[in-house]
Amino acid sequence: MTVKERLLQVEERIHRAAARAGRRREEITLVAVTKTFPAAVIREGYEAGLRDFGENYVQEFEAKRPAVTDLAGARFHLVGHLQSNKARRAAELFDSIQTVDTAKLARRLNECGRLLEVMIEVRLSEEETKSGVPPGELGALVKLVRSLPNLKLVGLMTMPPWFEDPERARPYFARLRELAADFSLSCLSMGMSGDFEVAIEEGATHIRLGTALFGPRTRP
Ligand SMILES: *Cc1c(COP(=O)(O)O)cnc(C)c1O
Repeated sequence: MTVKERLLQVEERIHRAAARAGRRREEITLVAVTKTFPAAVIREGYEAGLRDFGENYVQEFEAKRPAVTDLAGARFHLVGHLQSNKARRAAELFDSIQTVDTAKLARRLNECGRLLEVMIEVRLSEEETKSGVPPGELGALVKLVRSLPNLKLVGLMTMPPWFEDPERARPYFARLRELAADFSLSCLSMGMSGDFEVAIEEGATHIRLGTALFGPRTRP
């Protein structure tokens, strides 16, 4: 199947989930996650109509970036964990960083001097392998990020544990929505190929899809 064909099916599913929740399609940004795929796949997605792309690794996107500079209106989001020593490169490469999770990283990004849209990644599961700020420390980080002039805080992002049954991710999505409401944040980046319909029902404004658009990856 081509990206165009997969996108048509995905769009159908997004519309149906939005309709079930009484939401409009325009409230939801589809972020196409292109990690591990070559730059040609970003271009194929762009030609199929995609405009928002997500990448996980600074170095990987640094290598692809020169091949996609001509894609007018394309926006690139960093959705993978970011180490503060790579903050400068990330600030140069991406339009939005969805994974701010420490004060140190926020300060480093701010120092780069370029206006960046950011989200704070929240760790809602007990899994130690997952990154993100614990909910108890979110308030302090929101306050700090809001005080930094080059960072525009738009919302929260999360990645629940992997479940076979997407319904099991629902409480995590609902929890992120409640936290965002506590801080008057409007964007919620949640939902991947296996659970995006549930995420939309729970209020996702950004869904991050890789496999559903581009097929299986050979590497994580
Ligand atoms: C890989 C990845 C995705 C996309 O995952 P799929 O299951 O292929 O849709 C979304 N978000 C993050 C943070 C990822 O690392």
